[in-house]
Amino acid sequence: MADSVKVQGWCPTAWRPMQAQDGWIVRIRPHCASISAAQWRILSGLALSHAHPQLELTRLGNVQLRGVEDAQLTALRSGLIDAGLVPANVDADLAPAVHCSPFYQVRDRTHELADLLSAAVAQHLSPRALQQQGMTALPSKFGLLVDDPAQSLRGISADLRLWVQPDQAGLGYALSLGDSSKRYGYTSAAEAIDAALQVAIWFARQRMSAAGAAPTRLHQLLKTQQPELSVLKTAPQYAAAPGAEAFARPVKPGLHGHDWVIGAPLGRIDAPAMQQLAGCLPAKTEIRVTPWRSLLLPGSELEAAPLSTAHWMTDAADARNRVSACTGSPGCTQALIPAQTLALQLAPHTREGTEMHISGCPKLCALPGDATAVVFASTGNTGQLLLNAGPPGRLASPTIQIPCEALPSEPAGIQKLIHELSI
Ligand code: SF4
Repeated sequence: MADSVKVQGWCPTAWRPMQAQDGWIVRIRPHCASISAAQWRILSGLALSHAHPQLELTRLGNVQLRGVEDAQLTALRSGLIDAGLVPANVDADLAPAVHCSPFYQVRDRTHELADLLSAAVAQHLSPRALQQQGMTALPSKFGLLVDDPAQSLRGISADLRLWVQPDQAGLGYALSLGDSSKRYGYTSAAEAIDAALQVAIWFARQRMSAAGAAPTRLHQLLKTQQPELSVLKTAPQYAAAPGAEAFARPVKPGLHGHDWVIGAPLGRIDAPAMQQLAGCLPAKTEIRVTPWRSLLLPGSELEAAPLSTAHWMTDAADARNRVSACTGSPGCTQALIPAQTLALQLAPHTREGTEMHISGCPKLCALPGDATAVVFASTGNTGQLLLNAGPPGRLASPTIQIPCEALPSEPAGIQKLIHELSI
């Protein structure tokens, strides 16, 4: 292969957007995973006027706008701040992300925990707060997560994970560090949050003196050092129940209790379709963002809303659930193929249980952690355009390589690719 495979890593925000080939990426981190119908209407309008006409759902439950030009950045950010979607304070926006399960009731203990943690993180872990204690800002990838009592987000990566555990007498709040199965129990949300903050500050301090490249994730540092903190030493510790650490399956589109989970094909919401949906709902209706590239809505509200299958997935069996893709062409100037078009072509041929990612070049932007097969385009040594495919861990020597022209609109070519990948 003439090109080399490179996985990128960088987390943009609204105040610190990321430059991509097709313009700036501006990311919104919904507070407690919640955005009201009124805010979605504004967000869709901003996408139509200042960015590509799409809203991208990320694997951590964020929403991002893409293709923003230099001249549009300030006006876009102002619109987001006015809508209450982004902090007016740059320091709060650059504080570590606090992700939250969408499965909670308003003002229940999970909601209160996430709300309190978000405020505490903005106050104590922002770049300025750390700088005042002689530390550099935490890496942009460092993040905290509040899970629901069922731990629906077990499969989602986080540096510090907190959740409510109703069945632990007297220890109603739990904390775990990195990917460790060890849990610390606390009697109150305040205690659990204080412990999480102390671990984050320990990480911020220790990474500055770590040998070699500073670790960007807590689990990397925990391989060589353990925090000697009294908030951990004095807390009751216990291991996860057998089987409890199993990878939680993504929640698929469909009715879940009284709520609907609706998916967006390839995690991209058509801005006019979102405007139409949000326009049919009362302004205060919460439309929560899930980490599975979908939205959670109250079932009672959705009955009146139009959901075109071109833009939304309401069926867990929808084959488009099985594929993801990077921007590809024409949106990305580095793209060798229209990755999204190819992903939608391959979807009906992809077996249940497979998570296939299509990439327009070997950079593999936004490769999902749960992908089981990857197809990416590259330029061969002779200049020929190739489609490479294989499992994500072995892309340096792909399982198969076929000329690009042999595939895209050809059912036989697609069948061959799927067959040889055994997916
Ligand atoms: S084609 Fe895809 S993987 Fe390559 S740079 Fe563009 S968005 Fe990233």
